Order: sequence, then C-alpha cells, then structure tokens
Amino acid sequence: MLKKVMICAMSALMMLTASPVHAQTNKTVYLTFDDGPSNNTMKVLNILDRYHVKGTFFVTGQQPRYFSYIKLMAKRGHAIGLHTYSHDYAKVYASAGAFNQDLNKIQNVVVKETGHKSYLVRFPGGTNNTVSRHYGYKIMTKLSNEMNAQGYNYIDWNAETGDATGRRFTPAQLAKNACVPMRNVVILMHDTSAKNNTVKALPSIIKYYKARGYTFKKVDRTTRCRFKPNN
Ligand SMILES: [Zn+2]
Repeated sequence: MLKKVMICAMSALMMLTASPVHAQTNKTVYLTFDDGPSNNTMKVLNILDRYHVKGTFFVTGQQPRYFSYIKLMAKRGHAIGLHTYSHDYAKVYASAGAFNQDLNKIQNVVVKETGHKSYLVRFPGGTNNTVSRHYGYKIMTKLSNEMNAQGYNYIDWNAETGDATGRRFTPAQLAKNACVPMRNVVILMHDTSAKNNTVKALPSIIKYYKARGYTFKKVDRTTRCRFKPNN
C-alpha cells in the first residue's frame, strides 16, 4: 500500500472533543474492523468491552447469518460503517450506480439491525485501490466525490495489522505492525472467520496505546483519514 499519497488530517473539532483526561496529549487511536460480521465478532466485542474501549466496524453482507451481531455492535456502543454488501470489486466498481445500489443494500441491513442509518463508508480495498480501474473508468474519483455529495464520510487508514496481506503473521507480529507512535492512528484490522490471529493480537494493541495515553475514539463525521484516488 502506497502511504505517500495518503492525506490524513484530523479536524480541530475532534481535538476539542477529546476526553479531558488525555486532552493534553492529543493522541488518538481508532480501532477499525472491516469485512464482518463473522464468527469472530463476539470475541472482538468481548475484548473491546474488557478494556472499555470503542471501535468502528465496517460491515458487509458476506455472512448474513451473523447480521444480528451488527445490532450487538451498536448496542455495545461501537460505530457502524458501510463496506458494501457484496465486497465484490467487479460488481461495486463497475459504475457509480452499481456502487450506490450495493451500498444501499448493506445500509438497509444496518437500518434493520440498529434502527439507524450509517453515514460512514470504507471502500473495499481503500480509496487508493488499483484493482477498481479494471472495472470502471476513474471510478474511485467519481465515488469519492459521490460519497461527499451524499453526505457520507469515507475513511481509509494509516496503520494496519497486515492481517489481509496474505502473509501468515503471528499475533505478536500483527500487534507490532499496528503499534505505531503517530499522533492520530487509524488502524485497519479484519473481522472475518479466518482472522483468529487478529483476535489474539487485539489485547496487545489496546494495551500499547493505553500505556501511551491515547484516547480511543470511534470514527464519526469529523474523522479524516483519506487516501488519494489512483483512478
Ligand atoms: Zn474489506
């Protein structure tokens, strides 16, 4: 992933709303989980509860049997974002219309489970993904503009466990990848059946940031961490 093209700036408003305890440090971490819900969701939720921190789940429709976990995510105080229903690049990146249709499908699931619309989006592969160009001309530029116009906040990341790279990282390696001493950290992780090591790494990641005085926050309308589109 090319980090050079990334724009990541947090708004002044966000700083003002940080909790007083850590206000002097101004260090913020966002734990974000893509691709769920899955059979690992409960484990993730229980760890977040144990450490009294909130995260953000960018959900898909890939495993409908776990949809009730979306309700639980919201009930336990976490933020829900949309990551498309199908997560199928060929489908969602074929056109802006196709993307909207797929996004609305997962939005409907979120509304059904939580009673609320989500205004957060994470594009499959991130805003700077290069796969989408095979399916739609200038599609990421179009979609990022479209999301802005529709009032969604799309968000990428500036740190990751590396749990989607195809490399078999141990829990310790995943945690090390995700622990970076930046002022504002948006960590990409995955909530899928295959990511057992991410679950195992999560407590170490939380402890690392807690020990350094970070405030744990949920992604909201004011959170900015965006890659520049490549196409
Ligand atoms: Zn994904």
